[in-house]
Amino acid sequence: MPDRITMGEAGLEVPDEPIVPFIEGDGIGPDIWRAARQVFDAAVEHVYGGGRRIAWHEVYAGETSFKRNGEWLPEETIETFQEYLVGIKGPLTTPVGGGIRSLNVTIRQTLDLYACLRPVRWYRGIPSPIRTPHLVDMVIFRENTEDVYAGMEVEEASEEAGRLIGFLAEEFGWKIRPDSGVGLKPISEVGSKRLVRAAIQYAVTFGRRSVTLVHKGNIMKYTEGAFRNWGYEVAREEFPSETITWDECGGEPGDKILIQDVIADAMLQQVLTRPANYDVIATTNLNGDYLSDALAAQVGGIGLAPGGNINYATGHAVFEATHGTAPKYAGLDKVNPGSVILSGANMLRYMGWRGAADLIEASLEAVIGDRVVTYDLARLMKYSTEVRTSEFAAALVERMPIIERYAAMSGTRRAPSHIRAYM
Ligand code: NAP
Repeated sequence: MPDRITMGEAGLEVPDEPIVPFIEGDGIGPDIWRAARQVFDAAVEHVYGGGRRIAWHEVYAGETSFKRNGEWLPEETIETFQEYLVGIKGPLTTPVGGGIRSLNVTIRQTLDLYACLRPVRWYRGIPSPIRTPHLVDMVIFRENTEDVYAGMEVEEASEEAGRLIGFLAEEFGWKIRPDSGVGLKPISEVGSKRLVRAAIQYAVTFGRRSVTLVHKGNIMKYTEGAFRNWGYEVAREEFPSETITWDECGGEPGDKILIQDVIADAMLQQVLTRPANYDVIATTNLNGDYLSDALAAQVGGIGLAPGGNINYATGHAVFEATHGTAPKYAGLDKVNPGSVILSGANMLRYMGWRGAADLIEASLEAVIGDRVVTYDLARLMKYSTEVRTSEFAAALVERMPIIERYAAMSGTRRAPSHIRAYM
């Protein structure tokens, strides 16, 4: 019987047939969603043999919704995500014109989805601008509600800017040029701690080796520096037996999770020169923005980068492709469905259906490793076979039984190169 996912004392409680709302999305949304759904259903069926299935529940937003009923983001859609906790969405057209807020931002703010989850890893065969893309396997936790996302800004020469600049001069003695736009960068203890808590908990649950706090505390002590300090506090007070700091262990954490911190600009160098040293990353909003796109480019996979926005306290989560609606390709069955497929794999992992998530990633790795790819990767990869969106999904599904057979023998769903030859 289809049932709701609920939040219990120990975390999400997921029935065998959870109702999962989805928004197909605009532009290429229907193409990639059709392909992705086929992959999700096949993976769940292969791993749980009919014992589990997803009861998909369609809701509307964006241009599709506007054309149906004149509303960009119907109340009913938000209420459905609120009620069923975990959902997934395709890309949405950002409405042009005054007075309409970005739909993605509205969904995140209404459900207080404070952690933006951006896993980044390389898939064998994808061209990368770096020499060691195989060493990149990181999961970024980017704070999603504060810092520049607080959206507190006043325009240069506006009445508000004049008042704010005057107030700051009078009360704080801060001299700001009168022709300045001014923005605020709030970073709170509650906001920082819940983000770092989620990152450490993720590292504990999935056996990760380290959590790196990325900040710009050398310049901004009371915002970025405080984020760093609060991060260490969470580790010390809430995860004393699972974590250890660099100072305590000299970089030899044993079986504990190493908690370390790196200044943001140095981190952008470090992920290029020493990617193997980094695993889970917890960071403020703007740093996270730069870092997640830079890392996605490093593994050559901007079109494959998955994303999720999560509130680990209430359980609410919306997973999504990180690219847009690419309207010129709409309906052509041409684009890469990888981003929404991997977002769905992360959704399944969040729901505790780890086997199905691993199977999806292994089949994607196997197909790309065989150089069977959509146009975007085909134009970068020599000797590849270009396939349509639907054919790419079908290729993933076709690889699943052999990965499952291999998993039964080896205990791992990772697709090693030597079995790809038999696929
Ligand atoms: P975009 O839709 O991401 O497309 C830009 C280019 O990226 C495409 O022309 C294509 O490159 C490539 N691309 C995007 N998705 C791809 C896929 N799945 N497979 C292969 N290639 C892909 O960005 P945009 O044109 O700036 O934005 C279009 C609309 O999407 C806007 O309304 C924007 O606001 C919205 N948007 C929504 C979200 C969201 O809902 N999360 C995110 C970003 C943008 P080539 O032309 O080189 O083939």
